Formats: sequence, structure tokens, C-alpha cells
Amino acid sequence: MKAPNAEIVSIGTELLQAASADTNSLYLVEQLQGIGIEISYRTVVGDDRRRIHQVLQEALDRADVVVVTGGLGPTQDDRTRDALADVSGRRLVLHSKTLKGIEERFARRAVAMPEAAKRQAWVPEGFVVLDNRHGTAPGLLWEEGERLLVALPGPPREMHPLFVEQVLPVLLRMAGNGQRIRARTVKVCGLFESQVEERMKELLHGDHPPVSLLARPGEVHVRVTAAGRGEEVESQLQLWEEKLRNLLGEAVFGVDEERLEEAIGWLLRRAGKTVAIAESCTGGLICHRITNVPSSSDYFKRGIVSYSNRAKEDLLGVPFSVIERHGAVSPEVAVAMAAGVRRVAGTDLGVGVTGIAGPGGGSETKPVGLTFIALADAQGEEWCEHRFRFDREGNKLWASQMALEMLRRYLLKISGQD
Ligand code: AMP
Ligand code: MG
Repeated sequence: MKAPNAEIVSIGTELLQAASADTNSLYLVEQLQGIGIEISYRTVVGDDRRRIHQVLQEALDRADVVVVTGGLGPTQDDRTRDALADVSGRRLVLHSKTLKGIEERFARRAVAMPEAAKRQAWVPEGFVVLDNRHGTAPGLLWEEGERLLVALPGPPREMHPLFVEQVLPVLLRMAGNGQRIRARTVKVCGLFESQVEERMKELLHGDHPPVSLLARPGEVHVRVTAAGRGEEVESQLQLWEEKLRNLLGEAVFGVDEERLEEAIGWLLRRAGKTVAIAESCTGGLICHRITNVPSSSDYFKRGIVSYSNRAKEDLLGVPFSVIERHGAVSPEVAVAMAAGVRRVAGTDLGVGVTGIAGPGGGSETKPVGLTFIALADAQGEEWCEHRFRFDREGNKLWASQMALEMLRRYLLKISGQD
């Protein structure tokens, strides 16, 4: 049996604006792929009866399953019900059980029911009404021949339980063959997207699963998907992960939800090392990220935001003469910050970061984005230079990323030495 394919339609004029994200469809993609249903289209359409009708018509012409969210509310702009009636050729009829439910909901809260709330009880004749425990607008389901059309309310906290409890069982019956689609994301730091692609070349010959690359600030994510039954999918993904790890080597810091700061926590713990961080241009971001990891107090001891020259002098013992001679953004100051924070905190390692986040403060010789990162241990210090070309927050994020990456590479190196 061929796996059914699905199309997702998100309805709402607000979803066409820059300010709101269509998260419902991302949720549905994951749910549908989880039971082996492939997604062929995702559409966003505004609250316009004619346009919704048109989109639904096209979707029904080419997909086995169409899942719609949004536009089922009580207000005038919610037009999904009308469009469902148009596309199915059914008229809207009053569903008395739903109306009673809505009336009871308002009565319980001792609020007078607005006339508009009744609109939600009108449903296309012949559609199955899916009771919504978390809100007033019910879901609607229409099975016609081999095809399935489902409409769910927009608010995620109503949509998710309705989908899991009342739609998933119907879809599982349709999918029937136990097929699953799962994804794994292998995360890389220290390589550009093009370098990752270059290294993966041999993997992309011949028979390979769908692979997609996603560039994030200071990271590249490689996502592979596999289809099959139960264990089969898991072992297929395991195999791809191993292949990717072989090709990308130490640049891989984790998979799926794992973050760079978690990888560092794990490496510090394994090496039995403690660390302290002195930050200037990142303003505490690195410490924030490190302390987002539970139990980071085991290895993270102190963080100092030494923003002014005086703070660098007072709190870290950076000699004023060094700042005067080389400038606050210089390798010498980064090194003195790393060594200083290591000394005052009494840790094994110290990290110092100084740079120009922008947009102002740059010069010919020291442009915006110029950043120095240093790492100190008992043997001495090393430093590196970066030039970021993003906005202020982007530069800060990249600087934090590169500082964490420097620490990670150091920990990998020392773990290889014993
Ligand atoms: P509606 O059913 O169109 O009245 O939607 C009500 C609310 O649900 C909207 O104001 C949004 O907050 C939320 N919503 C609707 N569609 C989506 C979507 N595709 N993704 C995330 N939230 C949504
Ligand atoms: Mg809406």
C-alpha cells in the first residue's frame, strides 16, 4: 500500500504578516511524518472565503489528506466554515450539541454569550464534528472516498489535543502499514556550510536519504530523514549519523536538541576541569549560555562582565599600561583578561573576550566586529582573532559561539593527549 500524502493549509490573515509564525503547520509536519505520511505542500492563506475555497480545492485535487487550521473562531473574519461548505458542496447546518456546549461554557463562566459565538455551531452537513474540550470552536472532519479533509481551530493549545485524540486515530487507520519517517540533525561548529557540503560529497552519491543543510549563527545543521518500520528507521538513522560523524570529524558537537554549551559541559566534566569567563563585548552572554545547562556549577565557577577599562583593571588585574598601549580590543587585553579571570577565580581554565559589537566604535584599524578571544591554562595562553559582519546582537552571538568553540576544541585536544 502506498503511503498517503498530505497537505497542510494554515488559515489566517495574521499569518501573512511578519509578526506571527505559522507554528501549527510545523507541529503537523512532525506528527504526520511520525506516522509515515509525507507532506507535499504547506500553504498559508488569509481569511478570505474565495481564496480559502480555491486553496482547499487544489489541495483536495492532489492530496490524500488535507489538514486545515485556523479561521474557525466566532468573529466575522473567520471564514473557514464557509469555505469548507463551498468546497464540499454542502450547506451549513446548526449542530445543536455544539451550540449547547457553547452555551454551557458561557453559563459556567457567568458571562453573557455574544451572538457571534453561535456561528461556531454551524457546520457543513455531513461533516463529523470533533468536540473541543479546550475551546468553543469544534474541529471538523470529512471523509470522502479515499480522501480526508480535517479542519482544526487555530490556537495551538486547542489544536494539539484535538489532533492527537481525534484525528491521529483516523490517520493511523489510513496509513495502516506501520511506516515511520524520522529525522536526525547532526550539528557542526567551526566549518562553513560550503565546507560541510564539500566534506559530505561522497555521501551524496548514489542511494542516500534526503539531506538538508541549515546554517545557523556559528553552526551548521545537517538533517537526514529515513523511512521504514519501527527499528528499521532507527538503525538507518544511526548508520547515517555514524557516516556523517566520520566525514565531519571533530566539527560535530552534537545531534538533535543538543546545544554547544551542553557539549562543553560534558567535555569539562569528563576532563575534570573548571572554568571562569571574563566578558567584555558579549556582556554576559557566554556565562548565560553556559549556565543554561543544569548542574553547570560543577565546572563553571565565575563570570565577570568587565565592560569598562577600569573594570578590566580592578576585577581582572589587566595592567592599565597594556590597555593604553594596545587598546581595549587587542590580543594582549584578551590574553590578560583570560589569565586574570583564571587567577582570581582559581580555576583550571580562563576565557577572555573583547571586541567591538557595533554599530559604532569602529575605526580604520579596528573595524566593527573585530573580536579577540583568549584561553588560559596553567601552561600559558592562546588567542584567536575574528571579524564578524552582523548587527550588534549577531556579533555578540557569534562571539559567544566562537568562544565556546575555542573552549571545545581545547578540551578535545587535551582529551586526546591522555
Ligand atoms: P482562529 O481559529 O483563526 O480564530 O485562530 C485563533 C488563534 O490561533 C490566532 O489568533 C493565533 O493566535 C492562533 N493560530 C491560528 N493559526 C495558527 C498557526 N498556523 N500557527 C500558530 N498559531 C495559530
Ligand atoms: Mg483567525
